[in-house]
Amino acid sequence: MMGEIQENFETISALIPAHCVLVAVSKTKPIPLLQKAYDYGQRVFGENKVQEMVDKHEILPKDIQWHMIGHLQTNKVKYIAPFVSLIHSIDSLKLLKEVQKQAAKNDRVVDCLLQVRIAQEETKFGLTIDDLNTILASEEVRAFNAVNIIGVMGMATNTDDEQQVRDEFNSLSTLFQQFKEQYIDHPIFKPKHVSMGMSGDFQMAIEEGSTMVRIGSSLFGARNYGSL
Ligand SMILES: *Cc1c(COP(=O)(O)O)cnc(C)c1O
Repeated sequence: MMGEIQENFETISALIPAHCVLVAVSKTKPIPLLQKAYDYGQRVFGENKVQEMVDKHEILPKDIQWHMIGHLQTNKVKYIAPFVSLIHSIDSLKLLKEVQKQAAKNDRVVDCLLQVRIAQEETKFGLTIDDLNTILASEEVRAFNAVNIIGVMGMATNTDDEQQVRDEFNSLSTLFQQFKEQYIDHPIFKPKHVSMGMSGDFQMAIEEGSTMVRIGSSLFGARNYGSL
């Protein structure tokens, strides 16, 4: 009986417009729950830990698109390079270089998003506007042949102040549009996606221009552990 998972997907899907991709964030959730989501028709799953993603990829159907949404250590890129579909969390040039290297080894082209620091909070990973310019203007990056930068990702501040969250989402959309125009001839910057919005704020994110929402607890239930 699919029951609850199916209902959750129906409820959430009804709130997401067709142009917006739903990434089902399945971190910490057991395989049978992911299988239920798969049976419902979900094909895009987000994980934030390399080992967990590798384990789930090995067991679940091969037509699932796996998105890495969490902070990624350079020395672990090699484990996901053979199959990862999109990395949301590129937060350094060093990491992008490693993805290029490992994707090339696997004869693949891996899509990436640049994670931008939009939150006021100190704790969030992410690039500044200067960092983005450095990466996109780099001759080395322009010559990459095994990665595409298809957009940006951001996480808003964890606060009850709705206006602040909205402003942060809006700033990411605005920045995306600017970079889209500024780097229109860039060989590997092929801007398609603004990844923003989670269970608590995805409707606002969509209103502010999100094209990809990352939703976990509203689909799979609350995670019963401390971190993230
Ligand atoms: C866990 C996580 C999400 C999903 O959070 P929910 O509040 O459960 O929807 C989205 N994005 C990132 C980067 C995450 O780590």
